[in-house]
Amino acid sequence: MNDEGKLVVITGPSGVGKGTIVKALRQKYSNIFLSISATTRLPRQGEVDKQDYYFLSRDEFERMINDNQLLEWAQYAGNYYGTPRQPVLEQINQGKVIILEIEVLGARQVKQSFPSAMRIFILPPSLEVLEQRLRGRGTDSEEVIVKRLTKATEELAVSHEFDYQVINDTLESSIELVEKIIFPDANLKNV
Ligand code: ADP
Ligand code: 5GP
Repeated sequence: MNDEGKLVVITGPSGVGKGTIVKALRQKYSNIFLSISATTRLPRQGEVDKQDYYFLSRDEFERMINDNQLLEWAQYAGNYYGTPRQPVLEQINQGKVIILEIEVLGARQVKQSFPSAMRIFILPPSLEVLEQRLRGRGTDSEEVIVKRLTKATEELAVSHEFDYQVINDTLESSIELVEKIIFPDANLKNV
């Protein structure tokens, strides 16, 4: 049955299209929820506290780590990012599908704390395309883009560790593939 709660981890390098794919799935499926992460990164223009992220100071974030309130966490490009544990457990208990859209180090940790999680790695068609997407998004400074691209090479090297690999070439086909992975009998499902 597909109506049981499940935890889906979507990972891959920054700029590969994780957010775009997840947004499309959430528009289609009313029982999909996106976990709101905590971060010490500053909000980008238009980002709203408690909707896009819980924007925290380093002290506040470290307190959450020490109090074991995070399902996973990692440092990425100079900031902390992590998934608050409690909301994930609540949604799963309510039979929802909860998606974590997180970087690779955190995604690796989820296997330990949540062995039944379904972990999907999104790859770019090439590093050149990844760079174009990061630049095209227009949200990051040159320094941040360079950091993210450097990180991407390391991240892509471990893509085989994950349960599924999806190359995000054409958006429509990537969305369809991820949908089939999460809901293998999607045609039968009420959306
Ligand atoms: P991530 O969440 O992985 O950091 P985003 O979803 O923000 O990445 O996507 C980065 C940029 O690439 C965005 O501008 C998005 O519109 C674009 N994008 C995503 N998927 C594709 C695709 N398949 N083809 C072309 N552009 C894409
Ligand atoms: P951004 O700064 O672009 O919002 O996010 C940077 C990276 O951190 C992205 O790859 C994003 O998926 C990841 N990320 C967001 N939230 C979390 C989280 O809760 N945990 C981990 N490990 N990574 C996260």
